[in-house]
Amino acid sequence: MDYSKIPSVTNLLKDLKGKELVSKYGRKAFLDTSKKVLDLVRKDFASYHQDIDEEMVIGLISKSLKESKQKDLQKVINLTGTILHTNLGRAPLPKSVAEKVKDLSIPYCNIEFDLSTGKRGKRTTSIEEKFRQLTKAQDCVVVNNNAAAVLLTLSALTHGKEVILSRGQLVEIGGSFRIPEVMEQSGSILKEVGTTNKAYVEDYQRCISENTGALMRVHPSNFRVVGFSHEASLTELSQLAKSHNLPLIDDLGSGTLINLERWGISEPTVLESIQQGADIVTLSGDKLLGGPQCGIVLGKKDLIAKLKKHPLMRALRCDKLVLSALESTLDIYIKDRYLEEIPLYYFLDRKLDTLNQYADDITSKLNPKFYEVVRDHSYIGGGALPVHQLETVAIKVNYNKPQRLANWLRKQEVPVVGRIQNERLYLDLKTVYEDDISYLAKVLRRLEEEILDGE
Ligand SMILES: *Cc1c(COP(=O)(O)O)cnc(C)c1O
Repeated sequence: MDYSKIPSVTNLLKDLKGKELVSKYGRKAFLDTSKKVLDLVRKDFASYHQDIDEEMVIGLISKSLKESKQKDLQKVINLTGTILHTNLGRAPLPKSVAEKVKDLSIPYCNIEFDLSTGKRGKRTTSIEEKFRQLTKAQDCVVVNNNAAAVLLTLSALTHGKEVILSRGQLVEIGGSFRIPEVMEQSGSILKEVGTTNKAYVEDYQRCISENTGALMRVHPSNFRVVGFSHEASLTELSQLAKSHNLPLIDDLGSGTLINLERWGISEPTVLESIQQGADIVTLSGDKLLGGPQCGIVLGKKDLIAKLKKHPLMRALRCDKLVLSALESTLDIYIKDRYLEEIPLYYFLDRKLDTLNQYADDITSKLNPKFYEVVRDHSYIGGGALPVHQLETVAIKVNYNKPQRLANWLRKQEVPVVGRIQNERLYLDLKTVYEDDISYLAKVLRRLEEEILDGE
């Protein structure tokens, strides 16, 4: 076998294209990848040897480097129809929030410095104040995510004690967040009451003993029990908790600050939960709140004080960028500008006419044989409102190997992710940004040339 056709690393480094790759990806990455590619070529010499030359090897290195770059965090165009897509970063941030974070990220800031006294300050003073204004909660803590919020709450309030929870609320949120396991991790003891479909306030009452630490309600989030079912209301649980001097913990999960009725969605708001008597409410920052990933615990001052003092608090606290993003998200609610500024609500509120117009703009130069604009349904997602369908407009691609199209679209300069349904690829426009329309038109034109036309 004639291995002499295989270029040396030295020659690869001298190659013009090789030099470009070094400046783009760095010398070390180039050398590591070159070694891997050369090993592969030597090992599979028989299958490669016909066309081995410098250009071909450089081509393989470039492909491999490009593929490894695909794993980096990058912008993705979400056309799945799921507005809060956990794999795609859940809530997209408002522009004003991103700008605030950017301004704050480079210089120093007063994260733990009180500008009025010049002394050490607290991280979340302004966030606490804003939540007080929006939800009537007395106090709050902010941690990494809602899973951490629940863990901290139970660890600080009910360690070694029983927490009474309905069997219908033993939720698994996905990604291994299971209420019974979190309960165990916190050192609390789960006391299940009722059945999968029915739990009455009397069931809770019968279980209360000197070992009880709290009553708890967990929002069913990603599933619904329909038909013959009953759960005790928060008001009933609150009366019961008060009469036994026990805290009532409400894990809302999504936790919206605004009433969603205008979109036909019925979800308890944070304010309602507190008014109905929850002593502690936990929620995610990046679900219906539409902010950064974080977990928020709102509630009575004396209970929150215990959370603040718990050793886990330090381990779970958020950094200045997240806190700044949360703070400016709350400002949007305070100014009553969520419909204009928070993408989630902006998307929810957008008219179908607008989406139809976008569909026309994207498909106007495409062959109508391959693309069809259809009415369909999107979902809120993020473990919230699993059965609530939202009217939407989608571009359906008439091609019977949708997976091939999906793979191709994911490899474009800005990856595009659609959904496959009934053996067809659908590009749902519910969450499309206006700025991406012309890019999408171009990408679909290329898809037509490279794949669809050839069939
Ligand atoms: C989503 C959810 C969680 C977990 O929240 P993360 O922010 O994803 O950690 C916990 N409880 C409920 C009820 C939820 O819906």
